[in-house]
Amino acid sequence: SLTGKTAIITGSNSGIGLGVAWEMARAGADVVLNSFTDREEDHEIAAAIASETGVTARYIQADMSRGDDCRALIGKAGCCDILINNAGIQHVAPIDQFPVEKWDAIIAINMNSVFHTMAAALPMMREAGWGRIVNIASAHGLTASPFKAAYVAAKHGVVGMTKTVALETAEQPITCNAICPGYVLTPLVEAQIPDTMEKYNMGREEVIKKVMLERQPSREFATVEQLGGTAVFLCSDAAAQITGTTLSVDGGWTAL
Ligand code: NAD
Repeated sequence: SLTGKTAIITGSNSGIGLGVAWEMARAGADVVLNSFTDREEDHEIAAAIASETGVTARYIQADMSRGDDCRALIGKAGCCDILINNAGIQHVAPIDQFPVEKWDAIIAINMNSVFHTMAAALPMMREAGWGRIVNIASAHGLTASPFKAAYVAAKHGVVGMTKTVALETAEQPITCNAICPGYVLTPLVEAQIPDTMEKYNMGREEVIKKVMLERQPSREFATVEQLGGTAVFLCSDAAAQITGTTLSVDGGWTAL
């Protein structure tokens, strides 16, 4: 059980980050939720997790595109036993037409934030004598697709950084790993299904299996609960010697 541990999950007011936060809380960890917004509903999500699971849950606003905000998130949380770097965005365009501001934003949010939060959290983990870092990379941290230069570069960067930090912490009771999801059914993906059904004139199941999951051999989405469960496993005693590696949750994508 993760009772007594504090988990900070970046980009966790929706999708995978929120699913990971729920599973961390169900495993007993106190959780710190985050995004760049500061709306009532952001704080209500934390309150719902707290009342349902009995852990302490807080929401702390911080913009992961800014290095000082990344470090301030860890500082404001006050402790960080488990760090889940999940905040991420996507933009799709050929490289010669890739907007420079999109490149900069993806590199900042998807990759640079991981550097800043790890740099701020590691001294706390060393002080506490225990720590777990789980970076949510992607199948695109291991393979590429056209038109995703910034995303693929950032996710490969995260995988590389993960290995480096694992070596720097190898003799301490701290591990650092990356989870590489394939296609995950998040609200964002769910919202694309009706339009895609219309575009291809297919039913829901057909559009999911033939169009959306064309590269995922299982033809099933991974779920945010499965991602959360994988993160909880990486924080368990069974995973104490797992460090500096990637764990794919991709229905066979990277086996092809
Ligand atoms: P999502 O859009 O639902 O979640 C992204 C989260 O990041 C949101 O909470 C959003 O508020 C937050 N965020 C965005 N910009 C931010 C900023 N500047 N500062 C702080 N928070 C910010 O998407 P998701 O699918 O849940 O993605 C989560 C992570 O999983 C991303 O890193 C993504 O690359 C990765 N991933 C997703 C899939 C998938 O199929 N959904 C597959 C592989 C990897």
